[in-house]
Amino acid sequence: MFEKVLIANRGEIALRIHRACKEMGIRTVAVHSTADADAMHARLADEAVCIGPAQAKDSYLNVAAILSAADITGADAIHPGYGFLSENADFASMVEEHGFTFIGPSPDHITMMGDKIAAKNAAMETGIPVVPGSDGAVVSHDEALKIAKDIGYPVLIKASAGGGGRGMKVAQNEKELLEAWQFARSEAKAAFGNDEVYMEKYLQKPRHIEIQILADLHGNVVHLGERDCSLQRRHQKLLEEAPSPALNWSQRNEIGEIACNAMRKLGYRSVGTIEFLYENGEFFFIEMNTRLQVEHPVTEMICGLDLVREMIRVSSGAPLGYTQESLRFSGHAIECRINAEDPETFLPSPGVVGDYHTPGGLGVRVDSAIYSGYRIPPYYDSMVGKLIVHGANRNECLMRLRRCLGEYVIDGIRTTIPLHQRLVDNPEFINGDYDIHWLENFVGMDQSL
Ligand code: ADP
Repeated sequence: MFEKVLIANRGEIALRIHRACKEMGIRTVAVHSTADADAMHARLADEAVCIGPAQAKDSYLNVAAILSAADITGADAIHPGYGFLSENADFASMVEEHGFTFIGPSPDHITMMGDKIAAKNAAMETGIPVVPGSDGAVVSHDEALKIAKDIGYPVLIKASAGGGGRGMKVAQNEKELLEAWQFARSEAKAAFGNDEVYMEKYLQKPRHIEIQILADLHGNVVHLGERDCSLQRRHQKLLEEAPSPALNWSQRNEIGEIACNAMRKLGYRSVGTIEFLYENGEFFFIEMNTRLQVEHPVTEMICGLDLVREMIRVSSGAPLGYTQESLRFSGHAIECRINAEDPETFLPSPGVVGDYHTPGGLGVRVDSAIYSGYRIPPYYDSMVGKLIVHGANRNECLMRLRRCLGEYVIDGIRTTIPLHQRLVDNPEFINGDYDIHWLENFVGMDQSL
């Protein structure tokens, strides 16, 4: 087992990883930018190294500085968290080349799944159902017209290097197709430096359901059930729950088994999330994330496993030590992402946190790195915490969540707590009756891609 882990991240996830390490008796090294000298992850870690100025490109994305920090502190392994360098295959390779363990999947799998066309091909080859669409990249407008005619409108043009919902555009008909194709290409070029795009049938009322998998270095793979992440604004998830109100046990077992078999064939290791759209009883693969997800706690709450601990264990070579059959899922969990944003306009609201009180009690978890007097820097993601609530069933979970949101105090900044409060009182949400477009209507947003 590792003796010292460097955490190449910030905010709540850096703290989350620190906590798992401490419970395993592992010493931690935090890295931080100059803007984060007072951040909780830097304060709590056993050692903290400043790796550069506030801008992420100069600090949290600064590979040389992070590797130097690992070197001077004598770390054995590096956990990348989510975002930043977590899905950067070059970083993963360099970590290993410098003699540290990368706590995550192999660089080859990161590369494969980072290219959405290659990922879709790999999914098809390993028996995972995919969204009907182009067979690879769409390189000309004529080709786009032909494929769209075959699969039927509406269609979605997507960037093969895509992420964060960028480089995506819907076309309802032939007239819109040229513009959508050009728009997606230029947005993809600007965002990712790569204008390769592909086409998919645009599903009208799907849910976003993702399967969490976990694999060791010895070929053992389990799935930890699904998360329903259909509540999205501009393709960014706002609230997630497990299990999905839309699935029954036989559907869950079936898609879980398909996912595990595919990962076994690929020789995948560590955690991963296979994302599907789910419509009319059918699953359609859209992408795979080769990292820990923001929403991983809802899975932890229903299966009683610490996913960060499991990641660390399997990276050190330990076998899973349990089988699919021995895993038990219990109750229901919901996570609310609390962002430092105006709950109506969604404009960022950085500033100094005033009075601060987090909810507690049975089945309640708050993953956050903020504290009273903390200045939220304007340079990074606006998420300031996650409220995760567990109950014996969905109804108990909703009652508890409502109680917790009412107790939560984060003064000094605006947050999305009032939006979540409105949400948990909504009859359609209470019935679990929503799809990926539902939230945009609820918040009164233009839902066009
Ligand atoms: P990104 O990596 O940019 O997040 P994804 O492929 O994961 O892109 O898609 C993000 C979101 O876009 C999905 O959760 C879903 O809401 C929507 N989406 C993606 N593909 C389709 C599709 N074929 N039809 C309808 N909506 C889609």
